[in-house]
Amino acid sequence: MSNKVRVRFAPSPTGPLHIGGLRTALFNYLFAKKNKGDFILRIEDTDQARYVEGSEKHILESLSWCGLNIDEGPTRGGELGPYKQSERKKLYKDQIDRLMALDKAYVAFDSKEDLDNARHNSEKNGETFIYNALNRQNFKNSLTLNKEETAKLIKKGGYVVRFKTPAERDVICYDVLRGKVVFSSSLMDDKVLYKSDGNPTYHFANVVDDFHMNISHVIRGEEWLPSLGLHWLLYEAFEWRKPKFVHLPLILKPVGKGKLSKRDGEKFGFPVFPIKWSLDNQIIDGYKEAGFLPGALVNFLSLLGWNPGNEKEFFTLEQLINAFSLKNLNNSGARFDHEKNIWFNQQHIQGLKKEKLVELLKTSLEENRINFDPDNLATIAELIRPRLNLLTELTSSSFYFFNKPKSYNVKAVKKLCGSNATSELLKLSCCFLETNVFKAKEIKISLEHFTKTSGLNFGKALGLVRLAVVGKLSGADLFMTLEVIGKNSAIKRIEALVSHIK
Ligand code: GLU
Repeated sequence: MSNKVRVRFAPSPTGPLHIGGLRTALFNYLFAKKNKGDFILRIEDTDQARYVEGSEKHILESLSWCGLNIDEGPTRGGELGPYKQSERKKLYKDQIDRLMALDKAYVAFDSKEDLDNARHNSEKNGETFIYNALNRQNFKNSLTLNKEETAKLIKKGGYVVRFKTPAERDVICYDVLRGKVVFSSSLMDDKVLYKSDGNPTYHFANVVDDFHMNISHVIRGEEWLPSLGLHWLLYEAFEWRKPKFVHLPLILKPVGKGKLSKRDGEKFGFPVFPIKWSLDNQIIDGYKEAGFLPGALVNFLSLLGWNPGNEKEFFTLEQLINAFSLKNLNNSGARFDHEKNIWFNQQHIQGLKKEKLVELLKTSLEENRINFDPDNLATIAELIRPRLNLLTELTSSSFYFFNKPKSYNVKAVKKLCGSNATSELLKLSCCFLETNVFKAKEIKISLEHFTKTSGLNFGKALGLVRLAVVGKLSGADLFMTLEVIGKNSAIKRIEALVSHIK
């Protein structure tokens, strides 16, 4: 085995990819790229009963939207494929036979009722039922039956292969983040590794594949830490070199306690998927649809459980690769803060290349069927940029550059449109009419001059014009807005406000 860093993201296609899974994928990707290694996608689809149509596609599209390109995987191939466990059954069969030949696994024939009864009895005595070295001799398996009986029952099918957990031993494992983690083998079950229908269970396929795919580091969520003892023992049983294990800290609910779950999105009002997920006839929006830039989401997620070791917060994917190291992973849970996520998005929008923002604005306007003059888009994009939090605001925050206001903010009308408003507005429209060069700078000079001579307060004049042009008292730089919409539109909008207040 070479020393090349090879990591894998190994989701089960039992539903859409959620942000917790995406963060696991991200840390694997960053670690691989930082170390000039390979990032592998392996689909763990051994549990056919839990298979959800469309989830594999969702995983692939989500990774690709975030720019986490895989080096090997179901769609890319690679030397150590196939990359879907359902296509690797021959390997699992060979390896389970090997494990039995090594006397590290055995065949068990216990019926569901027998096991339920045994469980029931244990529970009656206030004990947890465990099937292992302490009691496996009481069950129906290849260790208690003779060869002929065993062979006969194997022929009949319906058996399972169990791991022969060593008796009464401390299983000393290492996790890069936590150091030594010890499991007592007396508390470990003889886990089912393989079923007679030809399907391995998660644990077995996972370990067999990590070894056969030359995985150097297993980086996965903390929820898999309890499985580490068994996985460790499996490596030992096969006498395989172990990968390094890294169990990432949990992502916690916004309230700070408890693991973030898929249901929390609805509860707290934020997306939990990178991109939309269609379920029956319902579409659940993801971060993409909610107006997030993939780079911003990735940056935000990168800081859930990792820190760069300095004050820097904003990173492109490239910069994250350079900055990433396992050393700076935290081992306590990271609270999910949606407001902070929005703030990251806002910051990333500020950093977007000019052309990119124009392209996004253009797409948004087209989708919303808004007519625009392409020559103005670059100016407009820059004018609205400082106020954008989400890309979904592109059209709403630029609407007034293309159309007169649909309505006027009631409070603003009340505040500004007293009995003199009509005459003030008409004077303002005259002022615009007389402004020969209708450019921001000239408009400003002309308005200043006009307010000085007419006695109308400059601030009030600005308010009235803004209300007429935008429909409310916020928006981009007013003089630039006037320049973009042009003299005619400006005058027409003032007249429209006059009609409105009349
Ligand atoms: N298939 C497991 C999952 O869905 C993989 C766990 C691991 O990375 O070992 O998360």
